[in-house]
Amino acid sequence: MPNNPFSNALQQLEQVNRLIKIDKNILEQLKYPQKVLEVSIPVKMDDGSIRVFIGFRSQHNNARGPYKGGVRFHPGVNISEVKALSTWMTWKTAVVNIPLGGGKGGVIVNPRELSIEELERLSRGYIRAIYKLIGPDVDVPAPDIYTDSQIMSWMLDEYEVLTGRHQQGVITGKPLSLGGSAARAYSTAQGAVYVLEEAVKKIGLEPGATVGIQGFGNAGSFMARLLQERGYKIAVLSDSRGTVANYMGIDVDQIQEHKKATGSVNHFHGGMNDGKKHCLDYEVDILIPAALENSITKENAENIKAKLIIELANGPITPEADEILHRKNILVIPDILANAGGVGVSYFEQVQNAYGYYWTEAEVLDKLKKMMVDSFDQVWAEKEKYDTTMRMGAYALAVKRVAQAMKDRGRI
Ligand code: NAD
Repeated sequence: MPNNPFSNALQQLEQVNRLIKIDKNILEQLKYPQKVLEVSIPVKMDDGSIRVFIGFRSQHNNARGPYKGGVRFHPGVNISEVKALSTWMTWKTAVVNIPLGGGKGGVIVNPRELSIEELERLSRGYIRAIYKLIGPDVDVPAPDIYTDSQIMSWMLDEYEVLTGRHQQGVITGKPLSLGGSAARAYSTAQGAVYVLEEAVKKIGLEPGATVGIQGFGNAGSFMARLLQERGYKIAVLSDSRGTVANYMGIDVDQIQEHKKATGSVNHFHGGMNDGKKHCLDYEVDILIPAALENSITKENAENIKAKLIIELANGPITPEADEILHRKNILVIPDILANAGGVGVSYFEQVQNAYGYYWTEAEVLDKLKKMMVDSFDQVWAEKEKYDTTMRMGAYALAVKRVAQAMKDRGRI
C-alpha cells in the first residue's frame, strides 16, 4: 500500500539492518508490536443517543522499559498508523536513552464535532476500555494530536477511580496541579530547538535564517515562538485550513491571537495568504513539518529548497522522499531525535511522580538540553561511522540499544 505508515516503519528497520546487521531472530521480533488492542467505546451523546467510537492501543516493545506513547484523537487514525507510531516510539526512547519502550494509542474521532462533555465521556471511556493494559510500570499514555492536558486529567482521574489508588505516573502531559512537570507543555519544541541549534552549527546557517512551519498546533506554535525569540524569521506558517507567508517575519504573538479568535492561521493580516500554495512550496532555509505523516513525498520532495529539515511531526517524510532529500544534500534531523524532547520530559514527569519531589523549570530545561545535545552528538557519530543519513544514524543507535536489551533478556 503506498505511504502506509507501518510499511514505512518496516522499510526503515530493514534499511538500517543492512548497516548494523543485528541478530535475525531479534530483527524478526522487532517487526511486530508485542500487543495490539482494538476497542469499541460507547459514548452517551448530549442528545441522549449512544455513539460507538473505535480506539486502539499498540504496545510495540518493552525490552528497555514500560511502553510509552501518546494517544491521538483524529478522524484519520487507523491501525497501521498506530502500529507505526508505537514502533517509532520504541526507537525514540532508545535514541535519547531513557528506560522506556514504545507504545501508541488513538481514537477515530473528530474532536471538534464533540461538545466538551462528550469529549470528557469519550476520554474516560477510552481509559475504561484499556485500563487493564496500562500502569506506571506497564504502559504510560500521553498527549498527541488533538489531545491535551485536560484530556490527560480526565484519563488519570478515570484510571485512579477504577484502580482505587493515586498513581499519577500512569499518564504524562498532566497539568502541574496533578503532578505534571514544569516545561512539559513546550518540551517537544524546546528539545527540537536544542537539536536545531546543533544542526545549524554543523551546516553554518547565518543568524536570521528563514523558517517554514507546517502545522500550528501544540508542537508547531511553541516552535515558532521559541525560534522567533532566538532571532529566526518565521517566514511561512500553515495549518489544515491555510498558509500565511511573510519574509520579513510573521509576528507569532499576533498570529496566535488571530488563531484563538478564528480557529486558524488562515486570513491572518500580517502576511500573504495564498490558498493555492502549500507551506512546502515556499523557499525557506529551515523547514519544519509539524502536522501529520507523509506530508513530504516523492511527488513534492524534488521542489524543496531548504538546507535543513527538522521533523517535529512523526513520520512526515516517506522513505522515497528521504532518498531524494539526501541526494539534494538537505540535512534531515529525523523525528525520533528531533521531537524526542516531549517523551524526554514525560520521562522526567514520571521520575518526579515516583519520587513525589518536583524540579524547577530551570532544572528540567538543564536536563533536557543535556539529553538532546548528547543524543545529537551520538547520532552524528553513528552517521559518520556508517557514512549514512542522520535518520539511519539515529536508527542504528536506537535499534542496537533495543537489540542489546532483548539479547540480555534472552529474548532470542
Ligand atoms: P496538534 O493537534 O496540536 O496540531 C496539529 C496541527 O497540524 C494543527 O495546527 C493542524 O491544523 C495542523 N494540520 C493538520 N493537517 C494539516 C495539513 N494538511 N497541512 C498543514 N497543517 C495541518 O498536534 P501536535 O501535538 O502539535 O502534533 C503535531 C505532530 O507532532 C504530530 O505528528 C505529533 O505526533 C508530533 N509530536 C507531538 C508531540 C507533542 O508533545 N505534542 C510530541 C512528539 C511528536
